[in-house]
This record gives sequence, structure tokens and C-alpha cells, in this order.
Amino acid sequence: MNIVTRFAPSPTGSLHIGGIRTALFSWAYAKKNKGKFILRIEDTDLERSTPEAVEIIKNGMKWLKLDHDGDIIFQTQRFDRYKELIQALLDQGDAYYCYTSKAELDQLRELQVNQGVKPKYDGRWRPEENKKLPGIPNNVQPVIRFKTPSNGEIHWKDLVKGEVVIKNEELDDLIIARSDGTPTYNFCVVVDDSDMKVTHVIRGDDHINNTPRQINLLKALNAPIPQYAHLSMILASDGQKLSKRHGAASVMQYRDDGYLPEAVINYLARLGWSHGDNEIFSQEQLIEWFDFDHVSSSAAQFDQEKLEWINSYYIKNKPVDELADLIKPRLLDMGVERLDTDILNNAIKLYQDREKNLNVFAGDILFFFQGIDLSAELKNKYLDEKSKNLIKAFVGEVEKLNWTNDEINKYMKEFVKEKEIKFPEIAMPLRAIIAGTDNTPSIGSIIFILGIDDVKKRISCILK
Ligand code: GLU
Repeated sequence: MNIVTRFAPSPTGSLHIGGIRTALFSWAYAKKNKGKFILRIEDTDLERSTPEAVEIIKNGMKWLKLDHDGDIIFQTQRFDRYKELIQALLDQGDAYYCYTSKAELDQLRELQVNQGVKPKYDGRWRPEENKKLPGIPNNVQPVIRFKTPSNGEIHWKDLVKGEVVIKNEELDDLIIARSDGTPTYNFCVVVDDSDMKVTHVIRGDDHINNTPRQINLLKALNAPIPQYAHLSMILASDGQKLSKRHGAASVMQYRDDGYLPEAVINYLARLGWSHGDNEIFSQEQLIEWFDFDHVSSSAAQFDQEKLEWINSYYIKNKPVDELADLIKPRLLDMGVERLDTDILNNAIKLYQDREKNLNVFAGDILFFFQGIDLSAELKNKYLDEKSKNLIKAFVGEVEKLNWTNDEINKYMKEFVKEKEIKFPEIAMPLRAIIAGTDNTPSIGSIIFILGIDDVKKRISCILK
């Protein structure tokens, strides 16, 4: 069997983390099985769909390297096909016109609520043998309803949730075309999944109620029933439904917030799926290992700290030139006017082991490219007569050195010994003056990267 999966987002807002995980699992399953992964934009809700949301989906998928097969499919370009199959259902007696007005439906609903029964269309326009239908009113544009089988049940073996059984009597006669003739959501999904030969429908479990309806429609269309995998929700760390309030807006927000795409992918893959104790794995390994047996049927919980930990792993292991490409624009945004490539690369090398976020990373190495403001706090803490004299003596000697990283760091140790001081007594004031902070990696290496002229300038600027 040729495996075909699809990601079918509705372009009605931002592409959030749950949506991306659905895309990731669909993508991974298709790749693992050397199948096809389709991207289908479900834009039939003309009022809520926007071109901006389509762009977000495209950019998000591209950023995360979730490449799809073939062109993107837009449902709005397939209206003729939906119409054709709606007509087919009408012709074969599996669909019918319903002229119930909105006022009548409201009335019916009220009655059912008062009687304590679940509101449901009562089938008044549903054709049955020997049933007399009401006279067609002339002021109502009809909708088209699907004739749901009145008994029996729908069951499927969900790849995540296990056996699911729903009685047909619980289901409404679904509207498949609105009164303006446009097809409805469930119908379009079914036609597309069937036309695109989708073998595995992988989606959020908020769609589980649609599945029995879609299976009934597929059966009426004589189409094969795909396998279903309904993924559990992602909850915020406080156990609540993940929302904008938790900072989990659009997937592109993660890029803007300083995360690497490979970290986001790795993190999301582990959210509700596991492979033994493996926490870090590449996209290739994910493809190799992915299976539904290890997708959890209960909700996953978002863990910001873990995402940061994974991000730091990928930052640590990323080639310097690639990090430079990501950090450069961030430094320019922070107001840097000139960027020396050697300094940038060396600064990245020196810092990459300690950074968990690209934005913070850029902020931490900003001082290499522009002057610093020494805070009163650091000044009071580290600069007194003694430390100023030490710095002057140190710089006087350092400038005579053969300018290598090793020489400078070696000399620092000698200086400490010679002056009979502790290392921080010289390192901390130097950090404060040169970097504007007392928290940096090796100050000897920072001095090496900046070069003697720049270091002298910074020191004289503050000591004068
Ligand atoms: N368009 C639906 C959504 O964005 C998904 C439909 C599906 O995957 O079947 O929630």
C-alpha cells in the first residue's frame, strides 16, 4: 500500500504548536513509509480564511523543513468537484433537499431542550418510503442534507485512541451544502481524502466527532475508509488548554523568540510520542523511529524549560557560520552598525556552549560590537583604587604579548600569581569594564577576540 498522509489546516488564524505537531507526525509517518505527504489548505470558510494565514502556514512549514509532496491544494479551487459529488449523492438517494427554515430549526431546538433530549434535526424533509413530505415553501433556499443511516454503528480502530464505536442514531442528517450551494467542511474533507487517496488521516482529537460522519459519507461515495489517528491535545504547563496567554501563538513566534527549527521539531516530536529514553534525535532518526504504538493517548503537557534545554543543545552543536547567519540580523536589529566577521565567529565560538536562545545569545555578545554602559552597581562592586591599578598594570603587560588566545590566558594566571591576588580580583573588574557584565566566559579569550586597541579604548574610557 502506498501511504498517503495529509496536513489540512484551515487558514483562519495563526499556526499554533498543536497544528505543527499534527503536521510533524503526518510528515514523519509518510516519510517513514516512503509515502506521500500532502499539504491541503481548507479555505472553504470564506469569511474566516485569510491570505495572511496561508502565508503563515507556508512559512511555518518551510521554516521547519516539513516539505510536502506536490503542489499545495486549496479547497476553494475544488468547488466543481464537490458539487459534482453532492449531485451524485442526490441522484443515488443518499442526500436530500431540506427546506426547514432557521426559525423552524430554532423552534425545534427549543422544544427538544425543554423535553430534555439532545437537540437534533428531526428528519422532516428526509425522504422515506411511503412518507409524505411537506409542501415546498417558496421563500426558503434549501440546504442539502446527507441521509445518515438510521441504524447500525460506525466503528474504527483508531491508531491512537484504540477501538471507537458510535451509534448512527446519535448522528444528525449532516448538512453537506449550505443554502447558497457551497459545500460544508465535513463533505469537502471526505471528497479530498478520497480523491487524494489518503490512507492515514492524522489530526487533532477535536475532530473525533467528525470521523463517524465522514466514514458514513465515504461509504456512500463508495470510497475506501482510511485509517485514523487522533492526536491528544497539548496542554500548557499549568494543565490548562494551551492558548495565546501561554505565549504559544504562531509557530513563527518561536523563530522570532530565538528558537532553532530543529529544536522545535525535536521538542514537538517528544510531546506525546517517545522512543525509549531518547530526548535528542535528528529528523532522520525521527523518520526512522516514528510509529503510532508510542504515541500517547492522553494529553501532553508543554514544558518551556525542556524546549530551552533542547534549544541549547542544538545551539551548542550548530556550525559557527550557520549560527552567524542567524545572529547577524539580530545584532543589526539591536543597533550594531558594523560587524566584523572574525570577531562575530570567534564570539559565537566562545559563547555557544552556554546559550539557550538566539536572541539572548545576540544580546550577550552585543558588547563585542558596541560600547557598553557600566552600571553604577558594577562600578561600585568592582572598581576601586586597587582594582584600577591592577587593570592598568595588567594592560601594560598584555599589550607586549604575542597576541594569541593561549598567551593571553596564560599570562593572566602569571599575573595573578605575581600580584598575589585571587583570579576574580582581576577578572571581574575586567569583565565589568570590557563587557559591561560580570558574567562572561573566559575574559582572557574576550580580550583576545577584541584586540588590544579596542580593549585599551574601553579601559581608558572608564578609568579616566
Ligand atoms: N481543517 C481542519 C483544521 O484545521 C483539519 C481537518 C482534518 O485534518 O481533517 O482543524
